[in-house]
Amino acid sequence: MTVTTDTATTRLKNYVGGEWVDAGGAEFHDVINPATGDVIAEVPYSTANHLDEAVRAARQALPAWRGVSTIARARMLFTLREKLQARKDEIARSVVIEMGKTLPDATAEVGRMIEMVEAATAIPTTMQGKVLEDVARGVDAETIRQPVGVCGIIAPFNFPAMVPFWFLPFAIACGNTVVLKPSEQVPMTQQMVFGVINELDLPAGVVNLVNGSREVVEGMLDHPDIDAISFVGSAPVAKLVYERAAQTGKRVQALGGAKNHMVICPDAVVEPTVNGLIGSGFGAAGQRCMAGSVIVTVGEGHDRVVPALIEASRKLIVGDGLDEGVDVGPVISCASRDRINDWIDQAIRDGAEIVVDGRDPEGANPEGSYVGPTILDNVSKDDPIVREEVFGPVLAIVNVDTLEEAIEVVNSSPFGNGVSIFTESASAVRKFRHDVEVGMVGVNIGVAAPVAFFPFSGWKASFLGDLHAHGPDGVEFFTRKKTITSRYFSGGHESGSYFVER
Ligand code: NAD
Repeated sequence: MTVTTDTATTRLKNYVGGEWVDAGGAEFHDVINPATGDVIAEVPYSTANHLDEAVRAARQALPAWRGVSTIARARMLFTLREKLQARKDEIARSVVIEMGKTLPDATAEVGRMIEMVEAATAIPTTMQGKVLEDVARGVDAETIRQPVGVCGIIAPFNFPAMVPFWFLPFAIACGNTVVLKPSEQVPMTQQMVFGVINELDLPAGVVNLVNGSREVVEGMLDHPDIDAISFVGSAPVAKLVYERAAQTGKRVQALGGAKNHMVICPDAVVEPTVNGLIGSGFGAAGQRCMAGSVIVTVGEGHDRVVPALIEASRKLIVGDGLDEGVDVGPVISCASRDRINDWIDQAIRDGAEIVVDGRDPEGANPEGSYVGPTILDNVSKDDPIVREEVFGPVLAIVNVDTLEEAIEVVNSSPFGNGVSIFTESASAVRKFRHDVEVGMVGVNIGVAAPVAFFPFSGWKASFLGDLHAHGPDGVEFFTRKKTITSRYFSGGHESGSYFVER
């Protein structure tokens, strides 16, 4: 292991009240490049006191920021969009170095991040309320939207650029102030992004960055001056966040883990289906919450598609995501690699047939944390590897005879994040989209993650809360509705009882 000598990036800082600040007294932990095992930075594990400073800055900034016109707030986001666009390549490289996905994949992630800012620039339209004249004689009713207050954002490791931006642009567009805690495994990209934010004319304290781990999260959940929590991460932590945030009366949206199915009908068009399965199962080394991880083949779908899938998967190149031609980068850590390999070993012991074996992939840097594409065939639909989240480049194939059985397999999952069907049959699609208990459905699309203008909407254990991430739900989550009923007497209107006489 080598420590980089670039002192400018070695010790990460927090960003509080418009200033970069040292997390004095905090423990520092190594940030590792999973492709090489190199230490690339040190991240502070901030304490409740560091968090408190950020929350105070956010609270102080709130009255002035909500008083800035919506149009001026939107213009700030236009500027942010341009500045992020100008540094897109640099941000994408940062994503690769700390998270491991390939550069094209990271570039696409940063594109999605910027798209979130674009969606939030529509705030003068999307934040509008509603008015109804004459709800009684001479009486009007109107609902307006106001910011919720100080909003906490807690992010996972797998999308260092995009996931914090599922929330941040919408939150500030609506007039809220923000405290963001990135994943301690990938804190460098948001450090860079906050460098960009620092160049804006945003009032001090509107956005704040607090690096750290569990202690910061718990501090956020308990803090009386944080009004709303947006969380993305694993299902057990989502549950903890949902329950604990509710105890202090916060508004909360908690996006949890996933187990996504890809259903192959007998009439699936082979080549694009194989491409879709590979992109979904092995892209980002299977570490997307929308990654397909169970293939459910219906009847002949198996023998038409699986041989081509196996052949194509064996050709995939595993390596450092910065290297050209690499298809699959490392998984996030050695602990993660060992956990994924244990899942594969256990599935084989349970009777699965390993047809592509990614344990110990050829040519991969032994200092990195690599698992190659892995395919397990003839897996029982009740096997733990079909039911639980593995979060690695592992596809388990379950064979069934009918579409109805395939839907049963999908619906028996405790999760309900994403699902895809591969078919040209409109009637199969009609039945499938109607019956599956999953929030995001792809038709001949391997990763059906909604664009910024639509809500990102998992179901069941994949999501706790009501309002989902981004799109119209983003504006709804980050605003409180206030309803005003009014009349005036000087215009000659009647002055009887509004409540009784309608
Ligand atoms: P994680 O749950 O380990 O961590 C998420 C965040 O919670 C991090 O910021 C971490 O510091 C914090 N945290 C971790 N353990 C905690 C604890 N015990 N108490 C308080 N805070 C804690 O998740 P991860 O490994 O970083 O990310 C991968 C997971 O995120 C996968 O399960 C994946 O499916 C999920 N994910 C879901 C979505 C979605 O939209 N549903 C999107 C991306 C990732």
